[in-house]
Amino acid sequence: MPLNPVSLGFKFQIRVEDLTPRDMLMVTCPGCSASYKVATYQLYMRFEPFMPLIEAEKHMKCRRCPYKGEMRWAVFRASPTVGLVRATTRL
Ligand SMILES: [Zn+2]
Repeated sequence: MPLNPVSLGFKFQIRVEDLTPRDMLMVTCPGCSASYKVATYQLYMRFEPFMPLIEAEKHMKCRRCPYKGEMRWAVFRASPTVGLVRATTRL
């Protein structure tokens, strides 16, 4: 299923509970450009549902380099749209 960037509003307003099971957090390290895919259930296991993602971000650390600053992140949503379009064009 393709993942597409999705906007859930202003970054400071997005909370853990705003993410659906179809969503995924793509976290990128500004220090070494390593990127990590974090599933919604992993956020629920670690943080309270009402926690803003900008607060959760402070607990994220890069595993590949000693970068200590803020990690960059964006929400991606799995979309079955492309598969459905392909199925209809075959008919
Ligand atoms: Zn890094």
